[in-house]
Amino acid sequence: MISKTMQDAINKQITREFYSSYLYLSMAAYFEDLSLPGFAQWMRVQVQEESAHAMIFFNYICDRGGRVVLGAIDQPDIEFKSPLDVFEKTLEHEQKVTAWINELMDLAIKENDHATRSLLNWFVDEQVEEEANDNTIIARLKMMGKDMSGLFQFDKELGARVYNVPAPLAAKQPTAA
Ligand code: MG
Repeated sequence: MISKTMQDAINKQITREFYSSYLYLSMAAYFEDLSLPGFAQWMRVQVQEESAHAMIFFNYICDRGGRVVLGAIDQPDIEFKSPLDVFEKTLEHEQKVTAWINELMDLAIKENDHATRSLLNWFVDEQVEEEANDNTIIARLKMMGKDMSGLFQFDKELGARVYNVPAPLAAKQPTAA
């Protein structure tokens, strides 16, 4: 059984992951509006990943005999200055998420909750990847500056991104016979 404190903290994180999903959906809408379908596709995959993160925590609370309580989701930003601005905001947001995951880990350590620590290890690694992806995209956008042909080429590249069900969620899904 999960402690009430840990359960409440993870419930908060479920809402934050759904907020992340909503924020990236708003960014996808911005890119669709700019006619950058590849950037939009990259964000659509991000939307699915964040909702998967929320569901990993959702399933975990259920597995540990806790009760999931969903909070309100704030309205995300709707206006952005440029693709670079979007990815700078994405990185900033992911750094916040990393700090929240670290806080959850601190709590799990304090409570000697080994099961939650094990789950959170996956998220700690995931955050390293999220920030690295954003940093790479920011660097590429800065390099190309105002080169539109570079931007369209990059749009094609980002459009190749496909969604893969994250391992902890895939493990919970029924497999086809
Ligand atoms: Mg996430």
